[in-house]
Amino acid sequence: MIEQHLLNGRLIVETGDITEKNVDAVVNAANSSLMGGGGVDGAIHRRGGPEIKAECKTIRQTSYPDGLPAGEAVHTTAGELPAKYVIHTVGPIWKDGQANESEILSNAYRNSLQQASTLKLGSIAFPAISTGIYGYPREKAARVAFDSINDFLEKNDIPEKVFLVFYSELDAQIFLDSIR
Ligand code: ADP
Repeated sequence: MIEQHLLNGRLIVETGDITEKNVDAVVNAANSSLMGGGGVDGAIHRRGGPEIKAECKTIRQTSYPDGLPAGEAVHTTAGELPAKYVIHTVGPIWKDGQANESEILSNAYRNSLQQASTLKLGSIAFPAISTGIYGYPREKAARVAFDSINDFLEKNDIPEKVFLVFYSELDAQIFLDSIR
C-alpha cells in the first residue's frame, strides 16, 4: 500500500478503490454522454446506484444536450457512495500529444477543483483521469495532474485536501517517479 503526502500535506497520493473513499467529493472520469461507461465510471455508477445517473440525465437535458465537453466538470449526488458528491469530468482521449491533450487534462483537474471550491468542500478524491480506456500515457498524465493541482492549491484554500487514488501500486509508483 502506498500513501505519500505532498504539497504540505494537502495532496495525498495513495492506492485504493475510489468508490470506497469517505471524502466530500469523488471525481468520476466520465465520458461526454454522462450516461456511464467502463472503468472507474462503471464502478461509480454500480456502487452509487441509479440516483447518480438520474441526475446526470437531468444535467444533459437542461444544460448539456450535446454532452459535457472534455475538460469541463459538473456535480451530482453521490447516491449510496460514502462521498457526498460525485464531480463528473471528461478527460481527453489521447491521440498523439498534439491535439491539446495536456490542456484539456489540466482543465479537467482545475474545473473539478473549482466545483469543489464553489461547493465549499474540504476534501476531494481523483482517479487517474484519462489513463485507462482513454489511453493517456501515465508518466505524461502525472506531470499534468500534479501541475494543475499544485497551481490550484497555491491559489485556493478550499478544498483543503486532495487525494489521488490509484488503482494499482504500479500506477501510484509511476506517478510519484514522474513528478520528481
Ligand atoms: P478514462 O476513460 O478517463 O481513461 P478509466 O476509468 O478507463 O478512465 O481509467 C482511469 C483510471 O482509473 C485508470 O488508471 C484505472 O486503472 C483507474 N480505475 C479504474 N477503476 C478504479 C477504481 N474503482 N478506483 C480507482 N481507480 C480506478
